[in-house]
Amino acid sequence: MKCPFFMETNVLHCQASAFRKMIVQHQGQSGQGRCSSPEFPGCELFQQHSHNESAAASCPFLEESAMQYCAASPVTKLIPYSESVLSRCGNDGYRYCSLYLGMSQPVAMDAEAEPAAPAHLYYSPNHMWIDRTLEGNCHIGVDSLLAKALGAADRVSFMSSNGVARPAAVLTVNGIDWQMMFPNRIHISSPNYYLRAEPAKIMADPYGAGWLFEGDEVEGSLDGLITGAEAADWMKEESARLTTAVHEWIATPREGGACVVADGGEFAPGFARHMDRDALLKLFYSFFSPLANWKGSK
Ligand code: SF4
Repeated sequence: MKCPFFMETNVLHCQASAFRKMIVQHQGQSGQGRCSSPEFPGCELFQQHSHNESAAASCPFLEESAMQYCAASPVTKLIPYSESVLSRCGNDGYRYCSLYLGMSQPVAMDAEAEPAAPAHLYYSPNHMWIDRTLEGNCHIGVDSLLAKALGAADRVSFMSSNGVARPAAVLTVNGIDWQMMFPNRIHISSPNYYLRAEPAKIMADPYGAGWLFEGDEVEGSLDGLITGAEAADWMKEESARLTTAVHEWIATPREGGACVVADGGEFAPGFARHMDRDALLKLFYSFFSPLANWKGSK
């Protein structure tokens, strides 16, 4: 499916002109003055380039081509029709475009909601997801369980930038670095560098504006991943496992003698930010480290 803001239009230009000036034809409009009328032989450019008398209804130098453009952009940039499939505008990748997300006003994740696993995504056991379009374009991010556990990241750094690699990023929380690595390779075209200025988006919209990498599928990109109904069950199990881990942490006597009794409820959003260094690292290596619970790597 293509982006709803991706529009088509016809553009006319004069092949006889030294300058390629495009003339956009808006809906319901046809022709362009003298060029598309029997009066074109009176044009000086036509006379310079053609020595034949012409009885055509429009100038033979007038060329029409189909173009596409983004209606959400404040500046109209025309893209040849034949290239549409090369950009994210012409396929499902539009869901990760900042312009689209800004115009469609996505609903931010409810911090209290139970972690969800949208069925169209594939998940790695260390709580990262990949979305692959029919054309093989990919986006990668962290899932809502990780987003809920952390609540916020102070910083994001990208360890992979382009080429065939396992996408890796470092999330910094309370001064501790969590190295998030997707277990399979993709052909990375770009990290989401906007997140360096706004890391809060990773947790506020983990399945949308908070995506970390984009690129293309390579052989094995989806190997060993969890998807569909299996993903929903897995997410519930992981949520319960995390809740148990939090309760154990709460009930553990700590330095200074403090011991809080678990209340039996689900883990609270952002609880990880209240953990000490050792507990935070243990949480990471139990749930989110690159090969946490990984069974199917190549
Ligand atoms: S730039 Fe973004 S909003 Fe505009 S058409 Fe492409 S995907 Fe849609």
